[in-house]
Amino acid sequence: MENNEILKKYAALAVKVGVNIQKGQTLILNSPIECAHFARMISETAFEEGAKDVVINWNDEISSKIRYMKAPEEIFDVVPEWQKEFYTSYAREGAAFLSISASDPEVMKDVNPERIARFQKSRRSALKEYSDRLMSNKNTWSIVSVPTEAWSKKVFPGVSTEEAIEKMWNSIFKIVKVDKEDPVAAWEEHKNTLEKNMKILNDYNFKYLYYKNSIGTDLKIELPKGHLWLGGADKTQDGIEFIANMPTEEVFTLPLKTGVNGIVVSSKPLNCNGNLVENFSLTFKDGKIVDFKAEKGYDSLKHLIETDEGSHYLGEVALVPHDSPISNSNIVFFNTLYDENASCHLAIGKAYPVCIKNSDHMSEEELEKAGVNISLVHDDFMIGTADLEITGVTYDDREIPVFRNGNWAF
Ligand code: ZN
Ligand code: ZN
Repeated sequence: MENNEILKKYAALAVKVGVNIQKGQTLILNSPIECAHFARMISETAFEEGAKDVVINWNDEISSKIRYMKAPEEIFDVVPEWQKEFYTSYAREGAAFLSISASDPEVMKDVNPERIARFQKSRRSALKEYSDRLMSNKNTWSIVSVPTEAWSKKVFPGVSTEEAIEKMWNSIFKIVKVDKEDPVAAWEEHKNTLEKNMKILNDYNFKYLYYKNSIGTDLKIELPKGHLWLGGADKTQDGIEFIANMPTEEVFTLPLKTGVNGIVVSSKPLNCNGNLVENFSLTFKDGKIVDFKAEKGYDSLKHLIETDEGSHYLGEVALVPHDSPISNSNIVFFNTLYDENASCHLAIGKAYPVCIKNSDHMSEEELEKAGVNISLVHDDFMIGTADLEITGVTYDDREIPVFRNGNWAF
């Protein structure tokens, strides 16, 4: 077991900087049972910081797998009313939501992907109000990771379980800056660096971005009028700052729903609900995915894309330099929270409404009119490479290098 001092520092970072818990606020914590030790530390810190209550949702991926394998078909179309009520009512009363993301990347390998897709769709429909609130920063939320046995062994094969977990802890501590003397100050500095590039991109107000690299990506993305680049800290409408992903290395915005054309090739495996999708490509016409290929995990990708109308379109454009801490670690984590922050990425599905100006006052129909994609899913996939070139085109037709050789050109 890692020494408790550094774990406590990590728990404090997640509670104070991640969700930035406020006095009298309730914290909902989603945790795998294997991460109980860390979850208890989170709970302790949250109460010490003045939380009114900490409610823990324990989950166990092996039990979920058993359910997917053995349960009768019809249960995958239903989500009990109380589960919907749980998330929705806590969200409405202004709770903070913290999730520990740590799963065996291939836990669902033997499960029929159709069952997973059916249940994910039912769950996402039932929890729509809750996830809409989080995606529009009405509640504070954050995701952090803690090593589990199966996940660590997949990332560090060929060493003992203890050694793999140890290596995983050390990587995580380094990447989320818990190894620093003052992690909170280190995050403050990091936020400022991201804000610098965010500001440059917002000032250019690009109309298009062109992507090109040697693995076959040749893509043109139109950005909607009024788009905003965001990065680092998020803010609720009441002005409470939080960091939705720890780590975060990205600056991101949304594409115009109908403005994506060309082909994009994946650069890292995608963990899609417990199945890996590898070496895949997507072809777009007027925003829509009109063709796709995958060397591995084709069915999982197909179910994701066919979830609803919006899952045939993109909802996020995110820029991460190739020369960045996670990417330089040369570790593939098979976990989107980590891999997406090592690589430029896009997301299939819903766009963050906060990426468009004045979204607070817009209905779902108005958002769609402004070019914001609406879907039940939002799944990031990685496309960044060491030779990726991105060129921005301004409204007065100037071509500005944004990325050269995988890194910021500014
Ligand atoms: Zn992202
Ligand atoms: Zn995303």
